[in-house]
Amino acid sequence: MAIPFVREMDFEYGVLQDVAPGLRRMVVKNPGGFTFHGTNTYVIGSGEVAVVDPGPRNENHLKSLTKALSTESITHILLTHTHMDHSPAAKPLKENSGAKTYAYGPHGAGKLDMGIKVEEGGDMEFVPDVAVRHGDTIKGKSWEVECVYTPGHTSNHMCFALPDKTGLITGDHVMGWSTSVIGPPDGDMKDYMASLDLLVARGDKTLWPAHGDAIRDPAPFLREFIAHRHAREVQISACIENGLTDIRAMVKSMYADVDERLHRPAAMSVLAHLQNMVATGRVRCEGDVTLDTVYRNT
Ligand SMILES: [Zn+2]
Repeated sequence: MAIPFVREMDFEYGVLQDVAPGLRRMVVKNPGGFTFHGTNTYVIGSGEVAVVDPGPRNENHLKSLTKALSTESITHILLTHTHMDHSPAAKPLKENSGAKTYAYGPHGAGKLDMGIKVEEGGDMEFVPDVAVRHGDTIKGKSWEVECVYTPGHTSNHMCFALPDKTGLITGDHVMGWSTSVIGPPDGDMKDYMASLDLLVARGDKTLWPAHGDAIRDPAPFLREFIAHRHAREVQISACIENGLTDIRAMVKSMYADVDERLHRPAAMSVLAHLQNMVATGRVRCEGDVTLDTVYRNT
């Protein structure tokens, strides 16, 4: 079975589009290899609204969004996580609207107690006004969401659930167009897999990702998503079995048909899997789990 990717999307940049009852979406014009058509900014409710993931600093997007909401007021700004394509516009939007920002915490917040310094690529300036936790409810006049903590893609990743499991705003945790990048040290495969299981257990009807269109049949999608990660770990074990005991050698074999420029992110993904496999006792190594470590099956 293959992952039933969703790559079609009907949208226009700069237009705030109704996508579901009480939910609107505007796509930032920041298309790219990691962002697909661009970042989806969601607007929840009407009249007094919440904006989710205002995106990178992009003047045109902010102007269009503010104009589209000119007869309404923004009372809350919610962030799924703090990558540069999601949170930097929270600052000007907050200044314009006076709304408070809500998120799990600053970049790396989920791993602070482990003393892990996070990689660049995060929005290191962002600090939420209100730090939210799993199960918290955020309420506006015309809307309400429940916070669903989903670490893995980043340690501070939060999804936001619409009432009665009608929909879940999934950020970069689960996207229809691509698998997510899990980059250590802030990204964590063990957490990521647990966060996928959490979504399976929840059973939300529709998933609304930060890039690409909605996933309207989440169950088979999530099943294949999880199977894909398990298949990668089986491949890694097979590599070790065949004497490919370091990550460079594994990537050369596992990604032989992939552009060499993508071998570096692929190596980070294999590293993330090996961290998970070592943590769960399926692979062993001397010392830390790094790109240069020699791995053995247990
Ligand atoms: Zn991200």
